[in-house]
Amino acid sequence: AREPGDLGIDDLPVRDELRGKTPYGAPQLDVPVQLNTNENPYPLPEALVERIAERVREAARGLNRYPDRDAVELRTELAAYLSRTGGHPLTTAHVWAANGSNEVIQQLLQTFGGPGRTAIGFEPSYSMHHLIARGTGTGWLSGPRGEDFTIDVTAAVAAITAHRPDVVFITSPNNPTGTAVDAETVLALYEAAQAARPSLVVVDEAYVEFSHRPSLLPLIEGRPRLVVSRTMSKAFGAAGLRLGYLAAHPAVVDAVQLVRLPYHLSAVTQATALAALEHTDTLLGYVETLKAERDRLVGELRALGYEVTDSDANFVQFGRFEDSHAAWRWILDRGVLVRDNGVPGRLRVTAGTPSENDAFLDAVRELKKEQS
Ligand code: PMP
Repeated sequence: AREPGDLGIDDLPVRDELRGKTPYGAPQLDVPVQLNTNENPYPLPEALVERIAERVREAARGLNRYPDRDAVELRTELAAYLSRTGGHPLTTAHVWAANGSNEVIQQLLQTFGGPGRTAIGFEPSYSMHHLIARGTGTGWLSGPRGEDFTIDVTAAVAAITAHRPDVVFITSPNNPTGTAVDAETVLALYEAAQAARPSLVVVDEAYVEFSHRPSLLPLIEGRPRLVVSRTMSKAFGAAGLRLGYLAAHPAVVDAVQLVRLPYHLSAVTQATALAALEHTDTLLGYVETLKAERDRLVGELRALGYEVTDSDANFVQFGRFEDSHAAWRWILDRGVLVRDNGVPGRLRVTAGTPSENDAFLDAVRELKKEQS
């Protein structure tokens, strides 16, 4: 706690654009049912925990040395995973890894954005795109979405053509709405972005393993300025690991080397991620359960009379509420933490275990009675 007379942030010579701002972060409240940060509710299986311990023990013997700076073994395994599941063959040279996809995005903006440049995202979307833009001195443009939260191609192309951004973010499935983007839309936006500048187009596929649709990864073929970012935080159930990665033309991987800190991925992180990748099939089995639970949440919320946005992610946006913050509070008072992302009249719930989802559904069933 700060003592009286201590300095506050604004007493320090912080950059002007950071003055008066608050850091990103969902509340980490101690509540029985936590469905607010799109985490995977299933702890890693015990066999994998054992394998992590083994691989980390091995890595510990070499901790006097810096880790593999280029994370070659890990990138090779990630490329194998993407080749197997993404519908497109990739090699080590197409893949880059960092501490969470947030760091991947930061490295991309440090490389392709920066002072005097701009990035665009179609909002509501993942607010860290905007915040990382600010942190890297990149200007931000808020592009439009339709009433149903899909990207309206005509309006999006018009925004790109008018503003000529240096970086275009397309989040699919989108957070917080759950909306997937089809390949035709990505291609139309990519073409518009190339005609306007040419700029880098980043497809953020953090949740793609939960989608009803295939990955957009095959689109990188022949499109050197298209990047797909991914993470082990959601489908692999390893949010605590901090491992994100991208797939793109090898020139993009070379370019981010200009800004990455040397040895940014610790040997412990690399060992842990490699262990998790050995258990991919088990972890993707949990994803199937979560997809079914997500579809159940959509169905039951609609049956209760809520307005629900179609979801291809491991979370569901629902409403409408006259006062979404009051609804959030009401659900929290019943021991269930969901997320108020600031989308007017809507809340977002992450798909949990079947019993967590039941607890959530009980709460919103009562809320519906209360409000009718
Ligand atoms: N992209 C999107 C769309 C997200 O929702 C998140 C996490 N909430 C991330 C990226 C970042 O995830 P991580 O840094 O854990 O990989």
